[in-house]
Amino acid sequence: MLDNYADASLLAEQGDGKVAGIRQALETSVEIARLLTPSPALVPLLKQLCDLLYERYPWDYVAILLVDPAGASLSAWAVVGDAPPDLDLSASRVPVEEVGLIGQVMRDRQRALVERAGRGRRLALPLTVEERFVGVIDLGGPWLVDDPALDQLACHVALAVDQTRRREDEHQQRQLLERLNDIGRTLTQTLDPERVFDTILLQIADIVPHNRGAIMLQADHELVMRATRGFPEHADPLRIRVPIREDDVYRTIRNTRRPLLIPDVAQRSDWQFVADLPPAQSWLGVPLIVEGDVIGMLSLVRERSNTYTTAEVALSVAFAQQASAALHNARLYEDLSKVNVTLERTVSELKQRTRDLEVTYQQLKRLDQAKSDFIAVASHELRTPLTVISGYGQMLSIDAAISADDYRASVVAGLMAGATRLNTIIEDMLDMARIDNQAMGIRPEPLFIDVLIKAIQPMLKQILRDRGITFKIDRSLAKLPYVEADAVGARKVFHHLMVNAVKYTPDGGSVRIWGRSLRADETALGKEAVEVVVSDTGIGIDPVVQDLIFAKFYQTGQVSVHSSGAEKFKGGGPGLGLAIARGIVEAHGGIIWVESPGYDEEACPGSDFHVVLPLRPETALPDDRMVGEYGG
Ligand code: ADP
Repeated sequence: MLDNYADASLLAEQGDGKVAGIRQALETSVEIARLLTPSPALVPLLKQLCDLLYERYPWDYVAILLVDPAGASLSAWAVVGDAPPDLDLSASRVPVEEVGLIGQVMRDRQRALVERAGRGRRLALPLTVEERFVGVIDLGGPWLVDDPALDQLACHVALAVDQTRRREDEHQQRQLLERLNDIGRTLTQTLDPERVFDTILLQIADIVPHNRGAIMLQADHELVMRATRGFPEHADPLRIRVPIREDDVYRTIRNTRRPLLIPDVAQRSDWQFVADLPPAQSWLGVPLIVEGDVIGMLSLVRERSNTYTTAEVALSVAFAQQASAALHNARLYEDLSKVNVTLERTVSELKQRTRDLEVTYQQLKRLDQAKSDFIAVASHELRTPLTVISGYGQMLSIDAAISADDYRASVVAGLMAGATRLNTIIEDMLDMARIDNQAMGIRPEPLFIDVLIKAIQPMLKQILRDRGITFKIDRSLAKLPYVEADAVGARKVFHHLMVNAVKYTPDGGSVRIWGRSLRADETALGKEAVEVVVSDTGIGIDPVVQDLIFAKFYQTGQVSVHSSGAEKFKGGGPGLGLAIARGIVEAHGGIIWVESPGYDEEACPGSDFHVVLPLRPETALPDDRMVGEYGG
């Protein structure tokens, strides 16, 4: 430094100060450019610049002070040498930018030169780049020469500072973006909405530091704090409710869907101070937008005014967008979890019901078996005494003495009629027992349905006449091809259907039987078949019970109100006819069902019983013993 000192004084003495000054400034600028090559950080660079100037010039001190991008306050500085007390920034209580020489340059953006008592001069030069004010360089000492070349030097210092600052900003920006990405990832992996709120606040504290942060969500006409950071514990922040008012900050954010920065909340008349909280100074509010709706805001408070930078606002917005997406995800996940829970509950209820049903089914099966066993035993047990009764009855009916006595003859005839009816019931029970025990052997033989039906018809002749019911065998029946079916079984099927048709049709009604051939593709059987329909104009059947009537012992209505007699109108029966018909039809590989608009004894909508029998049944050879029993 001494050499420079000597050089400078010498050059000044030689009267060639101007040229020397320019030369020195140029050489210093080259040195400054060299300092930039290893890309130093801003604060070390300031120190290096001060050291360089202090070394090359005969000054007592060199200070470089930078301002923030808004040009309002000091942001970084370095001081080398014996500087005046107002540059002792660590000790000063009043911000240097507000008073003294530096304050003056910051305000006026003009160079300022002052005399220092006994210590030479002090020169403060504004540092500007493309008319942007970046700071002040302050120099002083007895040998200070106010040379225009110093302005040139200041210009180079400003450029060096600006370049470094830009590079640092870019670097910082890149790092922040990477950080933001990481945060975004963390957030989207957080699927619990409550944790999303806390994570949002925790993460943003790192990139946009603040004193108090809160996630406030709108609930009707107020804002509710869902997560907070930095609030004093005694304030119990999660219980704080802030009413939403006309044109307040939240309304503004919600309407504009943009962030709102308030550099000094004291200036806002609509600011709602919350009791128990340290006073806020500057505030940043960022909307949280989920699926296009503003659902609340991110609120960041600093206890100093004018502190949020444009970059911080931009970062907060980017962050809030990620947070909103995470929130949306978390909500979707929550909804999904709720659906899952309901689903799991439903599944477990269903499983329980299935178990219950299984238990009930097993019980019903046991009951059904017990019923079948009873039918089998009862029918066999009843048959023997009935044979005895019928035998004696027959003997009595041919007894000459009884035949001669009308009264006795009618008693015996009644006895015989009862025995015959009982025999029919026992026969039905035996058929049912065979079907239940899958002992329904069938012996297929070629059978014309119209012949079969015409053979049954005479059995109903008397009752049809008594009750004035028209019975019609449609011509279509005669056109049907023959089917291979068990003659006895088929006869029983149509006998039961015809008896029922008569039984459930009021006097004066009609019964019609018709049929058609079916191609393989026209029936669910998937093979050629005939369809025979027994159609009546009777009381009809409620759709609810149309399947149930094919179960054994099923009878609609109250059994007690049925009139007795096999073929009388609504005459009582054991409820086995349709169960037997279905058993036999299915044993042939066929299907049977009923179609009826409903049950109505007044309107008599009628019923159609459909029987579809395959032309050739695929059944095993009959069990001779069982078939033999058909005949009784
Ligand atoms: P049952 O005639 O001995 O009662 P079924 O098994 O033959 O027993 O019939 C069961 C029930 O189906 C009958 O009680 C009756 O309610 C109903 N049903 C059967 N055929 C007809 C029909 N053609 N019209 C109206 N209801 C019928």
